Amino acid sequence: METIPAVSQLEVTPAASEASAVIRVEDAHKYYELGETRVHALRGVSIEIQRAEFVAIMGASGSGKSTFMNILGCLDRVTSGRYLLEGINVSEHDKKALALIRNAKIGFVFQGFNLLARTTALENTELPTLYAKIDNTERRKRASDALAMVGLAERAQHFPSQMSGGQQQRVAIARALVNRPSILLADEPTGNLDSRTSVEIMEIFQNLNDKGLTIVLVTHEHDIAQFAKRVLVFRDGRIRKDDPVLSGPRASEVLKTLPTLED
Ligand code: ADP
Ligand code: MG
Repeated sequence: METIPAVSQLEVTPAASEASAVIRVEDAHKYYELGETRVHALRGVSIEIQRAEFVAIMGASGSGKSTFMNILGCLDRVTSGRYLLEGINVSEHDKKALALIRNAKIGFVFQGFNLLARTTALENTELPTLYAKIDNTERRKRASDALAMVGLAERAQHFPSQMSGGQQQRVAIARALVNRPSILLADEPTGNLDSRTSVEIMEIFQNLNDKGLTIVLVTHEHDIAQFAKRVLVFRDGRIRKDDPVLSGPRASEVLKTLPTLED
């Protein structure tokens, strides 16, 4: 295995480390080169997100939401501008360092659940810990704890094909949590789910957020965005709106009003 520097050895910008912002983006631009053409996907995005915020991102297709999420998740870098994640100036680091930061600090959930088919819920959840220097007992414990957090303790030995879409997405959330990340990033996590199951996923997000987890979620459904505490609207690579959600619903309350599958 290649040796990579510990996160503590990465440069921490003094001014940023004093602030409480988990995410600080300053005038971010992103260009994609497509042969002769350049796509200007982000056109000057600046934002701060504090610890324990729950932010929903909305906006038309092509407005730059996924580009922005990939940058927040250290999957890609800004072309110009800066991104500070917990005071670490991510924009200055190379791919190896980005991978290390990502594994330690970020949990991802996508629209497709991306679980390994012939692998149990517990083993799927364990996968991200394989890069961490912990023994197998600790690995197993962390994965079991993460599955319990999403209400799937009893399904640890089930395979994806034996689970509903909602249960598979919960395994994906457990997998995202297993390394105890600073931020959970979710790009359209309810895009493949029915209404009730979507609200169940939002209930899990609200519960995790109550415990202090910072969450950034992309959705094109207005009703889903209302479960967050703050909504950003992207348009043409810029943030056009940034509004708090005032007295948004609790997913657990909404669930009481929705029919279950058995009804
Ligand atoms: P959204 O997630 O809001 O639909 P994206 O961030 O995926 O928007 O895309 C923003 C713009 O960047 C679009 O014009 C899209 O076609 C372009 N784009 C996204 N990813 C790439 C890529 N890997 N290569 C080239 N262009 C891309
Ligand atoms: Mg997208």
